[in-house]
Amino acid sequence: MSSAQPASETPRKYQLLIDGQWMDAESGKTFETPNPATGKTLAEVAEADKADVDKAVAAARRAFEGKWSKMSARDRGRLLYKLSQLIESKSQELAALETADNGKPIRESAYVDLPQVAENFEYFAGFATKIEGETIPVPGQMFNYTLREPLGVCGQIIPWNFPLLMAAWKLAPALAAGNTVVLKPAEQTPVTAMELGKLIQEAGFPDGVVNIVPGFGETAGAALASHPGIDKIAFTGSTEVGKMIAHAAADNLTRVSLELGGKAPNIVFADANIEQAVSGAMMGIFFNQGQVCCAGSRLFLEESVKDEFLERFKERAGRIKVGDPMDKGTQMGPQVSSEQLGRIKGYVDIARGEGATVFVGGECPQLEGDFQNGYFFQPTIFSEVKNEMRVAQEEIFGPVVSVITFRDEDDLIRQANETLYGLSAGIWTQDITRAHRFAREIKAGTVWINTFNMFNAASPFGGYKQSGYGREMGKHALEMYTQVKSVWVDLSGKPIGWFGK
Ligand code: ADP
Repeated sequence: MSSAQPASETPRKYQLLIDGQWMDAESGKTFETPNPATGKTLAEVAEADKADVDKAVAAARRAFEGKWSKMSARDRGRLLYKLSQLIESKSQELAALETADNGKPIRESAYVDLPQVAENFEYFAGFATKIEGETIPVPGQMFNYTLREPLGVCGQIIPWNFPLLMAAWKLAPALAAGNTVVLKPAEQTPVTAMELGKLIQEAGFPDGVVNIVPGFGETAGAALASHPGIDKIAFTGSTEVGKMIAHAAADNLTRVSLELGGKAPNIVFADANIEQAVSGAMMGIFFNQGQVCCAGSRLFLEESVKDEFLERFKERAGRIKVGDPMDKGTQMGPQVSSEQLGRIKGYVDIARGEGATVFVGGECPQLEGDFQNGYFFQPTIFSEVKNEMRVAQEEIFGPVVSVITFRDEDDLIRQANETLYGLSAGIWTQDITRAHRFAREIKAGTVWINTFNMFNAASPFGGYKQSGYGREMGKHALEMYTQVKSVWVDLSGKPIGWFGK
């Protein structure tokens, strides 16, 4: 495929999915989602607001109280497995739509996002029958056991950087555990979530188990987060909005899980395999146009290796192919939106003002034809950055890396931990004791040693500090979607003697 718009130039149309029905928003409003590579409208989507969220939550409640809770764990697992197979069978079409809506290169959506989406549903399909309680050795003639039960109706608010994958991370464990869901995709990238809705119906999930309400954050998102009818809200997005979600949920004491921003240190010691470390720095900051919460956006270089490293890094970054994301050879597509592009340019100005040096990039590339209107930005490397500068402390969410030097391990650990965030960290060294020491001392939810941006459905992911709380993927994800009930049974058959006879 070589065009920037899959299938046709006519905008696609999507309605809301509530209670198994496709419907317009109560207000009748719609919004447009552009293809970020060209600025042309990709789809026109029904715009959910509070009234629609109310309907979706009520439908999810009915589904939870009804058919869904009576279904066996095995049947829930089979539905999830069927869904994973349907996704696999449609993966090329879904990947093309993801690229058209988000801008990520087709080689990423086809070979990273879509396989992981299917993998997450498959992994949690297997878990449905393995959610178990415990027996507790309490004293006396008593039997005590626990039941691990679903929470009920879960609100899930999804970001735009991995639209379908983030939906999968949230939906799969929630459904495996027997919850029902109201899912709000990001307004920038609603398309693949709506396509997923079609596959959920095709797989045979009962009506109302998954409801999808595309709309804006301040309206549909806020209505969902503050809804008294939900039992849990799960959010992935910026730390700023995460705090708003936690505030909104606090009024109803709704359970919250948050996967928020990051400013990950990616650390290169002089003893590292430099070629490998350069490839890791590239992967750390240029994958998905840098729109990754765990991006290695602070690149720490040991002073003695700095010059050699930067020379190779500059040469590699300069060769990145930026352009039509539908072209299989493209390595970087556009940023997701003009707002994001503006934000990145703003940070480039801030960094210059703070005294950092543009070592590579720093501008929009000159592209031709339709792509002149796309939201493209060059791979950008800032050198001479100090860890306390804003460019090193604030999340940019673009292909902009700050290079910071360090003297020794103590100096490094101090600087690496000097951040509000704690989502991930990478270290490049041949010294295994140093690598494992670092893994213990860094305050982050994921540590990559001589690698970066590795994920698997079985391995937990989530933040320390202001990068959020709760873990997605792996068995830990089920803790976020279940609650524990303790059941006591008397085995003596005698009256309780406490107040006498
Ligand atoms: P970004 O700032 O990177 O665009 P956000 O954190 O704003 O990311 O968005 C992530 C998700 O949160 C999107 O689905 C968005 O619609 C939603 N969102 C934004 N603001 C709010 C809000 N006030 N309440 C609930 N959801 C919101």
